Amino acid sequence: MSQPVKTLIAGNWKMNGLKASLGELEQLKALVGAGPLACDIAVCVPFTLVASAATAMAGSPVAIGGQDCHTQTSGAHTGDISAAMLADAGAAFIIVGHSERRADHGETDANVQAKAEAVIAAGLTPIICVGETEAERRAGSALAVVESQLAASVPDSAGTSKIVIAYEPVWAIGTGLTPTRADIAEIHAAIRAQLVARFGDAGAGIAILYGGSMKPGNAAEILGVDDVNGGLVGGASLKAEDFNGIIQAA
Ligand code: PEP
Repeated sequence: MSQPVKTLIAGNWKMNGLKASLGELEQLKALVGAGPLACDIAVCVPFTLVASAATAMAGSPVAIGGQDCHTQTSGAHTGDISAAMLADAGAAFIIVGHSERRADHGETDANVQAKAEAVIAAGLTPIICVGETEAERRAGSALAVVESQLAASVPDSAGTSKIVIAYEPVWAIGTGLTPTRADIAEIHAAIRAQLVARFGDAGAGIAILYGGSMKPGNAAEILGVDDVNGGLVGGASLKAEDFNGIIQAA
């Protein structure tokens, strides 16, 4: 019998944050206290802040993550960062396949799958992102797009290692728009069904996050949808009070 899935609230700072922004993390640490909490918490900061953020959050329930990594551990890849480097800097999670990377850097499902493998090999947890564009939703192909991305982006090793999935409709990211509860429920149920069909009990235990304009004001409603096991939060993770509002809703 699989265990209930623990909620994860993960922040994605994207390309935001200088050393001074560590103050927001210190504030978050004070707001959430020492735990134990009903949910896990992570903040995926820019590479430059991973080590200092991990040091600052040591001993708190706030884990630190990166936002991308290379598929290789080391080598001649100027400007890239490996999962092993992020692990060494203190990261526990790495986002892979965010729609901004798929769009801005042409990342394919195969790239995302290889990156997720690299994250697992480094002993960290990949947060694997999938989600349809506005045009794909309008065309009625949202479900098919997500199912296809999921099948090709999740590595086989997910059956024996911890992974997290984030469903992020591209048109909801940073726009203030969110899908209806029914639309979120439909996609999350389909993701769960595919994970269970592929990984059995292990698939039933994988956290499926919703991402896209989650705020303190809508978090409780979204987190109440079946098979929504947390959130991947962009804009509202930048301010400790807003992010804590979502954590409290969880
Ligand atoms: C994201 O970038 O992963 C995201 C969900 O952004 P926002 O919360 O700002 O829509």
